[in-house]
Amino acid sequence: MNAFVTKDSPAKINLILKILGKRDDGFHEIASLMQRIDLHDDMSFALTGKGVTLRCTGIPVPEDSTNIVYRAAQLFMQKTGSPSGVSIEIEKRIPVAAGLGGGSSNAATTLLALNELTSAGLDRDTLMAMGASIGSDVPFFIYGKAAWAFGRGERLEAAEGIPPIWLVVCNPGVPLATAEVYGNLRIGLTNERIQYTIPRLQTVQQIARALENDLEEVSERLCPAITDLKTSLADLGALGVLVSGSGPTVFGMFETGEDALAAGERLKTGIGVSFVAGAGSL
Ligand code: ATP
Repeated sequence: MNAFVTKDSPAKINLILKILGKRDDGFHEIASLMQRIDLHDDMSFALTGKGVTLRCTGIPVPEDSTNIVYRAAQLFMQKTGSPSGVSIEIEKRIPVAAGLGGGSSNAATTLLALNELTSAGLDRDTLMAMGASIGSDVPFFIYGKAAWAFGRGERLEAAEGIPPIWLVVCNPGVPLATAEVYGNLRIGLTNERIQYTIPRLQTVQQIARALENDLEEVSERLCPAITDLKTSLADLGALGVLVSGSGPTVFGMFETGEDALAAGERLKTGIGVSFVAGAGSL
């Protein structure tokens, strides 16, 4: 049994995010096309004597039990009755409260790593159900490939045929809480759910045309810097531009890696935003 493992914990973007209605449990019913990107945190895990210890470097996040990783580890150890503890290190690069799912990804990576380290042998569906009790986006990162997410995000269907995409991902450097964005969302007063049919998306051009996010207007209102970022990316020749998740991170899709890298360089020097990734191959 290995007592130590390191893993990449990737960020995600939402290529499509539709809000279909409000649920009785307070969450929103969504339909979203989600994909992991190259940007990632580095995580390492070692089995130790007792309890969970956490050390985070890079972008600051809590190191106590309020870190979602702490909760994931505790839940796993409890459910599997593991006698040992775990020591976890996170080198954080994914901006926090950014619409990139960094915390959810870290929690999912923790469940996957502990399953491996402790040889608990839980199957993917069991890990995804455990993940869903921690956060709506956690199952997606356990699923491990491009997916359509339904329900509050925990019901997943493989998104077939999504091609690799070159991206410039820009974060304006200010956090935006997911709860605040949903709190400011005005959807119809009826309880009726909007019907949604999954579009057929096979090419980068089709995806660029289909980009859509029902949270974009609210996040743009709460964080006006988003508007400048969108304009800059469009001016630099992006095929399509969108806010990811609840924002405020914005991504632009580009035809080639060269185009993406050139646009990324221009953005970095042009308006001084915190530039995240030259390209994301999905
Ligand atoms: P989403 O796309 O799901 O909205 P997000 O990227 O906007 O996610 P996260 O970065 O996942 O948001 O989480 C934001 C909040 O969670 C912050 O208040 C942050 O302090 C807290 N948090 C707790 N643990 C972590 C972690 N391991 N990584 C990032 N944020 C964490």
